[in-house]
Amino acid sequence: MAETKSFEYAPAPESRAIVDLRSTYGLFIGGEFVEGTGKSFKTISPATEEVLAEVSEASEADVDRAVAAARRAHTRTWSKMSGAERGKYLFRIARIMAERSRELAVLESLDNGKPIKESRDVDVPTAAAHFFYYAGWADKLDHAGLGPSPQPLGVAGQVIPWNFPLLMLAWKIAPALACGNTVVLKPAETTPLTALLFAEICQQADLPPGVVNIITGAGGTGQALVEHPDVDKVAFTGSTGVGKAIARAVAGSRKKVTLELGGKAANIVFDDAPVDQAVEGIVNGIFFNQGHVCCAGSRLLVQENVSDEVIERLKRRLSTLRVGDPLDKNTDVGAINSAAQLARITELSKAGEDEGATRWSPPCELPSSGFWFAPTVFTGVSNTHRIAREEIFGPVLSVLTFRTPDEAIAKANNTPYGLSAGVWSEKGSRILWAADRLRAGVVWANTFNRFDPTSPFGGYKESGYGREGGRHGLEAYLKTGDAR
Ligand code: NDP
Repeated sequence: MAETKSFEYAPAPESRAIVDLRSTYGLFIGGEFVEGTGKSFKTISPATEEVLAEVSEASEADVDRAVAAARRAHTRTWSKMSGAERGKYLFRIARIMAERSRELAVLESLDNGKPIKESRDVDVPTAAAHFFYYAGWADKLDHAGLGPSPQPLGVAGQVIPWNFPLLMLAWKIAPALACGNTVVLKPAETTPLTALLFAEICQQADLPPGVVNIITGAGGTGQALVEHPDVDKVAFTGSTGVGKAIARAVAGSRKKVTLELGGKAANIVFDDAPVDQAVEGIVNGIFFNQGHVCCAGSRLLVQENVSDEVIERLKRRLSTLRVGDPLDKNTDVGAINSAAQLARITELSKAGEDEGATRWSPPCELPSSGFWFAPTVFTGVSNTHRIAREEIFGPVLSVLTFRTPDEAIAKANNTPYGLSAGVWSEKGSRILWAADRLRAGVVWANTFNRFDPTSPFGGYKESGYGREGGRHGLEAYLKTGDAR
């Protein structure tokens, strides 16, 4: 056999000069950056542990100020403006995001640790696309199929996680504003910087003061926001545990709630699937964004008669992944977002070994500072293993096998979650058969982790309720039917 030669990649770092980092950031309330009345905290680069900036931790009094600013803006300006006018602001924001996309992408990779090619090619363009999409709806709400002249809810309190900071912000803010609501948004403690840059974009777009308020902080700030009595709508993306606490906290109040929580998606490969294409889909399903993806294909269900071949080709492919500097344009897998998340991934992976699954990682050298975890595959996993049941939220794949289509569906649905699933097969009829039976909000066919603003996204069971994206995403921000 001819000897195969591999070539080294020269570093191709993206310059961070485009980002104008301030040493400290205040809160964005009423259209201005103001000092918080609470403490402050540091946000670091997870790839190097370098301190990037000092950020305010919004106190209850600050949350109160932000909600009051949002209420004023709703009553005096935003709810009175025509949909066409609101749409103009959203289009303007979308255009500025596109213009400043490199700056946003570099900042996102610095603060989150994700590879620049992902923030540049996925996060930022998809975030801008959400603003473009919902800008188009702002003057067409009467035609959204939600009854004549649907009305905004008022003030939305929105809490987002650290895995897609800017994209989750766009998922939350774009539909809320298009429907005539004003917002107070809290980004995650470890990734506040792109939300603060977005605040500058709102200023640049001349958005009326108070329509968007950004308050940074930790879990306590989020809790104060969702429990604030003058918030009409709560939108949350994050862990199932916190989602349940929020549902309990707002139970019995008038607040409308959407929860987008965890997942443990099955990516099902049938024996007639095009193997190389499926392998790319498996890699994208679980190693995209270091596996910090709520809809990640973290459980591979592969038909037994092709499992050896699929796993062999998967391992060969994983050996070519480049793990390292998020700002290097060649990097495929970046840093784990925080020390806490690294500890969780490490603990669950150890549980996988202890429970008898076989662990494998490609040879790869990890940087000496920062938070890193090598891409990992567990074979010989059964449904009762913790690594098959719990959300690891890291670059760890659990492989299970099945013999018949019915067994595949039974195993795929044997989870408390139900956010997404993937099906790989050459037969359209088999894909439709499987999609009909999978209890998951999104089912991808011969692809994985595709996001589009026109398409609704959301879960079944413990993955939460409500839909974001598409026409369905408007419903969460409007008074419809009896609620009017
Ligand atoms: P959390 O659910 O704690 O964080 C999500 C957001 O909620 C953050 O902004 C957080 O603030 C905020 N928050 C925390 N506690 C409260 C509260 N009581 N009331 C209101 N808001 C609150 O997720 P973690 O970051 O702690 O991650 C833990 C695990 O959750 C991960 O290992 C992963 O399995 C899962 N996860 C799932 C996500 C998904 O999209 N499905 C996203 C993120 C995590 P702060 O960051 O400041 O704590």
